[in-house]
Amino acid sequence: MKRITLLFLSLLLVGCQSSPHADSQNEISSNQENAANNETSEETEASSEENIEEADSAKSDGTRSAWTDYSAYAELDEEGYGYYIHDDPDVSSEIFPLHTTNSEDVLLFTFDDAPQMPEAYSLEIAKTLKEKDVNAIFLVNGMYLEETEGRDMIREVYDMGFEIGNHTQTHANLRELTYDQQYEEISQTSQMVEEITGEKPRWFRPPFGLFNMDTILICNELGMQLMTWSFGYDWMDEYLDGDALAEVSVNNEYLRGGANILMHDRSWTSDALARMIDGYREKGYHIVDPLIIKSQENSTAPMQ
Ligand SMILES: [Zn+2]
Repeated sequence: MKRITLLFLSLLLVGCQSSPHADSQNEISSNQENAANNETSEETEASSEENIEEADSAKSDGTRSAWTDYSAYAELDEEGYGYYIHDDPDVSSEIFPLHTTNSEDVLLFTFDDAPQMPEAYSLEIAKTLKEKDVNAIFLVNGMYLEETEGRDMIREVYDMGFEIGNHTQTHANLRELTYDQQYEEISQTSQMVEEITGEKPRWFRPPFGLFNMDTILICNELGMQLMTWSFGYDWMDEYLDGDALAEVSVNNEYLRGGANILMHDRSWTSDALARMIDGYREKGYHIVDPLIIKSQENSTAPMQ
């Protein structure tokens, strides 16, 4: 736990100093939240449908189109993308607009350790998200997909429209493994995800946020962008409770546009989720549909 806390803090400290988004937390948009605003004009609906169709036909990697209403915060390019994730996970894995017209007040929701068997909450979490029209990435551990129950749950989550990412086979500390062992940990899970969904995962998150150059090279070979996170509280002793978690998640000093929010497949997270979404929307944030985030090759510049 200590190592996680240290890494988490160092990520935050470095991220705060260097990110171009440093000021955006004070610029809360006055736009009304898109999902709360059902009075979308016919024109907007038509153009957003067009965008969706374009995205369908343009993406050659088989990735599906966004399903949330992103028209209030993003315009997509001809490939169907509106955002990208900063490619140095040691500094930040924040979300940035690909186009100047797109809102910077976006947050990304990610759920690790899915579907944590035997008592998994991924499906419950997915249902709450869907009710609130929020898409997210579920990062899975292959060890939970060995039994039918876990596979069925992830297939259902995928079929609901959510994106599935890779969080290794056994939740290993990758820094303690050789290249070959890491390859096994990572490729096995990608393969399982592809067998279940028919799609290769685009996103990889190393357990405990710990990785090295081998991890980067393997992710590039398997076509995944490695991401860490901006903040998350649902694994800390004081926040293993829905009320406390909802409160700190919405009111903390690290909340700002572009934040990549780490959550887990846990009962208290599921409990806090609806309140978190409402709280973020009240503050003017949009929760970005990951399907409009363009993944990219990881930088292999020497690590510090
Ligand atoms: Zn994890």
